[in-house]
Amino acid sequence: MANSRAMDILNDAITNRRDDLIGLTQDLIRIPTLNPPGDCYREICEYLERRLKRSGFETQLIRATGTPGDSDKYPRWNIVARRTGKMAGDCVHFNSHTDVVEVGSGWTKDPFGGELDDGKIYGRGACDMKGGLAASIIAAEAFIATHPDFSGAIEISGTADEESGGYGGVAYLAEQGYFDPKRVQHVIIPEPLNKDRVCLGHRGGWWAEIETFGEIAHGSMPFLGDCAVRHMGAVLNEFEDKLFPAMAARTTDMPVVPEGARSSTMNINSVHGGQPEQDEDYTGLPAHCVPDSCRIVIDRRFLAEENIEDVRGEVTALLDGLKAERAKFNYDLREINLVLPSMTDRDAPVVQTIAAQIESVLGKPAEFVASPGTYDQKHIDRIGKLKNCIAYGPGILELAHKPDEYVGVEDMLDSAKVMAGGLRDILLP
Ligand SMILES: [Zn+2]
Repeated sequence: MANSRAMDILNDAITNRRDDLIGLTQDLIRIPTLNPPGDCYREICEYLERRLKRSGFETQLIRATGTPGDSDKYPRWNIVARRTGKMAGDCVHFNSHTDVVEVGSGWTKDPFGGELDDGKIYGRGACDMKGGLAASIIAAEAFIATHPDFSGAIEISGTADEESGGYGGVAYLAEQGYFDPKRVQHVIIPEPLNKDRVCLGHRGGWWAEIETFGEIAHGSMPFLGDCAVRHMGAVLNEFEDKLFPAMAARTTDMPVVPEGARSSTMNINSVHGGQPEQDEDYTGLPAHCVPDSCRIVIDRRFLAEENIEDVRGEVTALLDGLKAERAKFNYDLREINLVLPSMTDRDAPVVQTIAAQIESVLGKPAEFVASPGTYDQKHIDRIGKLKNCIAYGPGILELAHKPDEYVGVEDMLDSAKVMAGGLRDILLP
């Protein structure tokens, strides 16, 4: 290979930054950007600003004013950093979310300590996705240091609120034109999809609250009222008998992992009916009442082959069927959120570039996958209208949101080599 020497120089530049990569990852984990409520966004953006300015990036801090969750107490800050090359050319953008989910129980390590133990860095967000953010920064810095004459531009963004829908982060930036295809041509989101896989997109999601109604009465004479929970029981029976089997029979050509997510799925997120629960220290007994309201939240994930009208229509047809058959049955359905599926073409330039780099760095062909849950690609695709976008990053998908979450240092180094190789392929004339 003619460019194998250039490859060695770039790979060595990354290997030599091992301690820097570890320190950077630890620093990021130690800023507790919990979402909700959306803590420390300004702090992490300022940290990234200092770091990236040192490496010659121009930076912008952008507050997503007025988006869900944004307040003076919890402002939604984002950073976009850009380093322009010597000549005109494509722009490669690495987008990472800076927020992390709640800690939960079961930890044996300090969730915000960033402890390095046996080649793994532990902490909430280590895998999802501060390890990926750190790897992309190291990749960009090593590439710039070894190839200062590159053309085009490199961008790195750190964005808020991915874990709560991305409205104060990527969606906002996309609305402001930051993901306009005239400005950015390739997007890599270093989510933890494993270092040997290219993630092409994700399934869709539809969230709705269904409420059934009844009539309150004395619990000793339920026939004088109407039990909303029994009506909801009938809804759940319909789902069990008809909806779940129909969804399980539907499969997709999307390479979703894990395999179980290659069908349509639905989670019943919650059930609330009857009297509100009392505080734990309340020692009284429940009053005897027939519940007049019952609510469930459904979380329906759908495939690229399904359309949202059918997804909605399938549920409302079952509810309307009950309304026709079942005495006094009445319901309300409120849509909570909708995300359409997103799938990047397998022949798209960023897919081909990163797949080739995986093969060259890891010595085996890349695997192509799609994600069961959604991530910020939806906004880049639907709002930004930018189709050349993938998720690629270190970290083991199954560790995301779990206790003792970690990211492997070797995995970060390998994926940084893949990302840097991608930069070299796209940005060297
Ligand atoms: Zn994530």
